[in-house]
Amino acid sequence: RALNIVRDVDGSSQFIPVKTHDRGGYTIVLGPEMLRTAGTMLRDRGISSKCMVVTDDVVADKYLQILLGSLKASGFNPEACIIRSGEPSKNLSEVQKLYEAFLKYGLDRSGAVIALGGGVVGDLAGFAAATYMRGVHLVQCPTTLLAMVDSSVGGKTGVDLPQGKNLVGAFKQPLITIADTACLQTLPHKEFLMGMAESIKHAVIRDPELFEHFEKANPNDSGVESIAQSIRVKVDTVEQDPFESGLRETLNLGHTVGHALEKCSNYSLLHGEAVSIGLVAAARLSSETGLCEQTVSQRVEALLERVGLPVRHTMDPQELVVAMTSDKKTRDGQIRFVLIRSIGEVQYGCSVASGVLLHVLSELRV
Ligand code: NAD
Ligand code: MG
Repeated sequence: RALNIVRDVDGSSQFIPVKTHDRGGYTIVLGPEMLRTAGTMLRDRGISSKCMVVTDDVVADKYLQILLGSLKASGFNPEACIIRSGEPSKNLSEVQKLYEAFLKYGLDRSGAVIALGGGVVGDLAGFAAATYMRGVHLVQCPTTLLAMVDSSVGGKTGVDLPQGKNLVGAFKQPLITIADTACLQTLPHKEFLMGMAESIKHAVIRDPELFEHFEKANPNDSGVESIAQSIRVKVDTVEQDPFESGLRETLNLGHTVGHALEKCSNYSLLHGEAVSIGLVAAARLSSETGLCEQTVSQRVEALLERVGLPVRHTMDPQELVVAMTSDKKTRDGQIRFVLIRSIGEVQYGCSVASGVLLHVLSELRV
């Protein structure tokens, strides 16, 4: 793994290569103050001077001028579209507004869309870039921990419909991803935890060293090194399964129970909170069925608690099972789980006896 992460001279930034099925691949550049170098990094990449930055109002206040300044200094002639921060902006009418702004600006296939923000901006702008004129270049500039380690990696983009989340989308790989870790300093703690839930998930899936690091490190801190390691887990997984036909299902660890918790709480539980409780449930299901030792599920639970994520719920176990059965990820009515063999090794496509499932969900209810 170490071979794949090239560190620059002062050791503060990392370049993570990603192989893709389309153009061979791209690089994720990660480190503090990276936005200031965006112009330099985009120069000589064969794109015209037209770059449309898509961002949200919260991120625009803090980081838009830095990015625009860097682009202008490198000879680009950028403009910006600012959406309202939050999940409700991830819809088709916002996509339509983006297309109209792209047209007015004169963006064509030689230009680029730059997504500056969290997963909402990345998914929305990514989808617009994938479909506008059958696809224009996309640059991802993730500004939340979740977007850095999870949503900006893997090429999935899309929007929500009134009927449900992420129901329309496309695969779109970026030209480059520029992740400025200095942006994380202004991230609200709650949002930091959303990224930590997925990072801990990544560690459980295939990085025991990262897991041990989190067990020892300052729980309020995620350094460049651990963000890079977390990204690597997702990169490795999606490289091997770009279109979600197998291995990528491992990334669903904690999400089977997690999605049911989100739904049954009427989305008052945040995604990362639900995933955290879902990880504890997956760990307990694994130890209850004898797939892993009890110490494994104890460590998973202790780590999530240590960083400040919830590990208990208040929902009715029967209702949770009903919600899981109606999830889009079930196959032939069977609920599919990702279970844990050991820290760093999981197994997907598992089914669990309903008695065991109800028992674990009841144990975790307060
Ligand atoms: P988000 O984009 O809504 O960002 C969270 C909040 O933080 C927003 O209010 C935003 O304005 C603010 N923010 C962003 N960067 C900031 C910064 N540096 N400082 C201060 N505030 C900042 O949410 P998110 O958690 O980044 O992403 C969630 C979205 O990602 C969901 O829509 C989800 O469906 C999607 N997602 C996609 C994938 C994928 O594979 N495409 C994977 C996971 C999640
Ligand atoms: Mg998730």
